[in-house]
Amino acid sequence: MGHKGLYFCIVPSGKYRMAVSMIIEGLILKGIGGFYYVETTDGIFECRARGKFRKDKITPLAGDHVTIDAAEDLTGFVTLIHTRKNYLMRPPVANVDHLFIICSLKDPKPDTYMIDKTVAAAELREIEPVIVITKTDFSECRDSAERLQAIYQKAGIACHSVSSITGEGTKAVQAYMEGGISALTGNSGAGKSTLLNAIFPDFQLKTGEISQKLGRGRHTTREVELHKIGLGAYVADTPGFSSYDVEHSELTDKSKLIYGFRDMMRYFGECKFTSCTHTCEKGCAVLEAVEKGSISRSRWNSYHQMFNEVKDRKQWQINKNV
Ligand code: ZN
Repeated sequence: MGHKGLYFCIVPSGKYRMAVSMIIEGLILKGIGGFYYVETTDGIFECRARGKFRKDKITPLAGDHVTIDAAEDLTGFVTLIHTRKNYLMRPPVANVDHLFIICSLKDPKPDTYMIDKTVAAAELREIEPVIVITKTDFSECRDSAERLQAIYQKAGIACHSVSSITGEGTKAVQAYMEGGISALTGNSGAGKSTLLNAIFPDFQLKTGEISQKLGRGRHTTREVELHKIGLGAYVADTPGFSSYDVEHSELTDKSKLIYGFRDMMRYFGECKFTSCTHTCEKGCAVLEAVEKGSISRSRWNSYHQMFNEVKDRKQWQINKNV
């Protein structure tokens, strides 16, 4: 609950009027056309942002925890954006707790390079990646599911197989989603919405309810809406979760690439040469771990491929992209 206080405001007729203002905290569910829809314990408020944000070049984002100066008619002003723990640029969303990387075993087949690239982008933004393998009901794909799980288990990255038909594995995924903001990414056809519906059967209904409250506006890929899917659990509706954040993250800087690979980071600083790129050097602790099988070759292959893609980039090109 917020602090209530009395203040006077001038209404257009020039007369004084008494109004009640409340300073309350909330979560931005959606921003559209200069309005921010802020969920609070007192309801959803339609807010504008104070001019100072524009001056400071800060745009409130879906997922931002904010303080608002609220009026009784469910309108208000965003007066403070609380410190973000992370944010994505496209789609624009803040404070993401988990990035679910949805990959199907079939149509399309899993691509470990794309998975690792997305995992690395999440790691560099301090978002916990969770890999979810879908379409596990095809018996011919079982080997492939086990292979993927072995790779990511070894890397220390959560990886779960889920059957939307039998419900197997859905509880584990649900546990990650509770109490935080989730974003989902994956190829079209990987089964993102099927998965969400299997975990939260009420999701469709709730989506409809919130969308009505949040009102007007054409939905474009630039807009993000947080849907409440459980107690304190939100999922970012990110139709355009493209490869933008993957391609334009710190992954373009070869010296930072290893920070995107937590399994390789365990050996950081143990290589013979401090300038080791972990691709071909003698005395490289990472390469030795790959040889011994402590790091999956598939993970190192992805690192190597990403390294080759960015190794010739010049610093000015990197700066241009960030
Ligand atoms: Zn090395």
